[in-house]
Amino acid sequence: MTVAVARALAGASLVATCLACTGSRKDPRAAEEESTRSVDAAVHQPAVSAPAVSAAPPPVHETGAAEMDASPAPQRTTALEVARVLFADAADPAVHPWSTECAPALPEEARIRCAFGVRYAGDPEAARLAHGLFVRHGVRAGVEVAHVMNGGYRGMIQIVPAVPTKQHRRHLAWIDAAFADFEAFFEGLGRGDAGVPRYRFRPIDVRFMRSVRATTPNAYASGWEVAYNLDGSINLSESAVRETMFHEIFHLNDTHHGEFSLKSLSRVYDAIVKRCGTRSPCLQPYSPGDTMVRNGTYYPFQPGNDVREYGAELAIRYYREQRLAIRGEKVARPFKCGPRENAEVWAAFAGEFFAGIDRIPACP
Ligand SMILES: [Zn+2]
Repeated sequence: MTVAVARALAGASLVATCLACTGSRKDPRAAEEESTRSVDAAVHQPAVSAPAVSAAPPPVHETGAAEMDASPAPQRTTALEVARVLFADAADPAVHPWSTECAPALPEEARIRCAFGVRYAGDPEAARLAHGLFVRHGVRAGVEVAHVMNGGYRGMIQIVPAVPTKQHRRHLAWIDAAFADFEAFFEGLGRGDAGVPRYRFRPIDVRFMRSVRATTPNAYASGWEVAYNLDGSINLSESAVRETMFHEIFHLNDTHHGEFSLKSLSRVYDAIVKRCGTRSPCLQPYSPGDTMVRNGTYYPFQPGNDVREYGAELAIRYYREQRLAIRGEKVARPFKCGPRENAEVWAAFAGEFFAGIDRIPACP
């Protein structure tokens, strides 16, 4: 799908295609693809099935608040560590020109700011945004490593590093807005003695890239990193990017929680699939989102996707509903007030990741 078509579908639309795919990256984790988003225009492309891939344990920020909101603690990060993400496209970031342009004698903090200036050269505003993401949220916004991804039926997709400057600077602003929103969300969620979510949303690394002659994947995630496509077909607005990031970050947490979706949601998910197959009218009450695959069915139930995408859709539904509740707005049709299966997975999901917090009133 072209960006123009995706843009035309924007507004009422939310369609996400994630696909787990293995690539030729050194880190063979599950990759995630979002293709298009649309609420009522069922427009997206079928996902590609791929074998589950094992993941090495991600960096761990254990326990309580630290896990939910692992301190960005930029002061504990060295300039070289930051540079390894910013200049991941360099043969050796340690000897890249930044290392001399940003004199080793500089205080570490100043040297880090300098490194952002070198990476985002020619666009001081982009450098300021990227540095701000690091300082406020511990997000190192650098580049992806060039590689070829196995895109399943789409063939091999060439991924190249990209830097969001000039006309692409807006992606940095959207990601910045997303993290500011997540911060307010988690603060509101845990207000009072509600409990401490076990859900890490920062720090993470964001690695910008482009897909050659393609507008997918929009994003994929592994190991506390989210790769983000500047040409992605759905990365077109602040709200779309916010949900893309929440979706991807959920997958990171799902992995960190020992594949919670696979272990704890499969029974309900499998029963729904057994009952409904791919029949949309049957699946509709059970689908956490309105996302549909073009010529297919509700996104998490599209053959080739699995319960992990059901979990990710549940995460977005939880985020949307709790976000409204925190803001004092009414939730029209709470997910948990649908079929009893919904209430069951909702409670399990909230219990696993969000200390059981549920700001939606009990169902009538
Ligand atoms: Zn996904």
